[in-house]
Amino acid sequence: MPDTMHVELVSIERAIWSGDATAVFGRTTEGELGILPGHTPLLGALEPGYPVRIVPQDGDELRVAVHGGFLSVHRDGVSVLAEQAEVADDIDVSRARDALSRNEGDDDDEDRVAAHQRALARLRAAGEQV
Ligand code: ATP
Repeated sequence: MPDTMHVELVSIERAIWSGDATAVFGRTTEGELGILPGHTPLLGALEPGYPVRIVPQDGDELRVAVHGGFLSVHRDGVSVLAEQAEVADDIDVSRARDALSRNEGDDDDEDRVAAHQRALARLRAAGEQV
């Protein structure tokens, strides 16, 4: 079994990261995933509100807030195709905190629920307690 796998994470707007990694962690609607090289192929829809973490072969772990899209594990590696995404270092935590409280508490309003989930994903990616 190889020690690394190829990983690419793209949003509709741009390619966020690609390279060799030793592990990828994320959450699909089917549950939490920890993917190591040689993982069984799968396709899952990303669960709103959670980041994806990539452990590169070289360098620091990368945490990315992903909003909508899919994660696939295939023979050549892992692809994360997100509708929108932000890398932890680019996340403005106080803006996300504001968005979280502004969009709290109305489960009938889909736009607010989605905005609340984006804020949660950003805060979790930034390593904040939520
Ligand atoms: P807000 O209410 O703070 O604008 P939002 O979830 O409604 O949050 P979006 O419409 O999803 O914002 O995003 C608009 C743009 O702003 C996108 O480019 C997104 O990446 C960026 N963005 C939104 N919130 C943050 C944040 N907390 N830190 C960094 N970039 C952000």
